[in-house]
Amino acid sequence: MKIICIGRNYTEHAAEMKAEVPEKPVFFLKPETALHKGYEYLMPEFTQDLHYEAELVFRISKPGKSIEERFAMGYVDAFTVGLDLTARDLQAECKKKGLPWEIAKAFDFSAIVGEWLNISEFDIEQDFHLNVNNQIRQKGKAKNMLFTLPQIVSYVSKFITLKIGDMIFTGTPEGVGKINGGDVLEGFYGKKSVFKHVFR
Ligand code: MG
Repeated sequence: MKIICIGRNYTEHAAEMKAEVPEKPVFFLKPETALHKGYEYLMPEFTQDLHYEAELVFRISKPGKSIEERFAMGYVDAFTVGLDLTARDLQAECKKKGLPWEIAKAFDFSAIVGEWLNISEFDIEQDFHLNVNNQIRQKGKAKNMLFTLPQIVSYVSKFITLKIGDMIFTGTPEGVGKINGGDVLEGFYGKKSVFKHVFR
């Protein structure tokens, strides 16, 4: 299983990162060891600036290579909201030097994935949001993504074969921020809570 993450897929997030809006989807990978399980999250010591990025996440249900956009939704069986956790200080160093991002993005437990929902419940108009200590910090909907899920599945699968159980994080809306010890982060799809974690 692998985790594919799309970067800069919402205009306002690209702006807050002072990054250009891409012409093609930008993606990077996290390994299986990036998955976090359990309620408590122990923050890594190698970063002083761990950021949340709330994102819609989709699960691949059959193998595919060079999938055409019109068939893409047939390869997805579930979705949820997750966190693409990012060591923003390490990422800034990598960006400055033009180096790959893995230490900032692919470290152990850098991916939080909520409870899976059946893809039949997916609605591009439905809001998802992230609460930090019961305050809304990020809110988005699939309709505002620069690249749609079928475009993403088609593009990524030209380069990398998708396999059963692979996950695609589809980018974060604006409002990313730092996580502090003691924070409780809760993700919602519509009114449904799909994950809740306390950070230590
Ligand atoms: Mg992200």
